[in-house]
Amino acid sequence: MAEPRCTKCGAITKEGVLLDRRQGHRTEVACWVEGPVERWWWGSPKLRGRPRYEISLRRCTRCGFLEAWATDPAP
Ligand SMILES: [Zn+2]
Repeated sequence: MAEPRCTKCGAITKEGVLLDRRQGHRTEVACWVEGPVERWWWGSPKLRGRPRYEISLRRCTRCGFLEAWATDPAP
């Protein structure tokens, strides 16, 4: 398969992930979660039972444009 090119400027893109730093503790790969955000009264998002997928991205080596995919179910 040909190396995917940037849809904005046509340069080479590199694969990567989006990191999620949870208040200085563990570092995780960020996830896409189905549905609009709803919160508990203490501010945490309600996520139970919602499908979630790990986010992977490609970053353009010239202009920095990011394209994201969420195809792999999160563990
Ligand atoms: Zn570009």
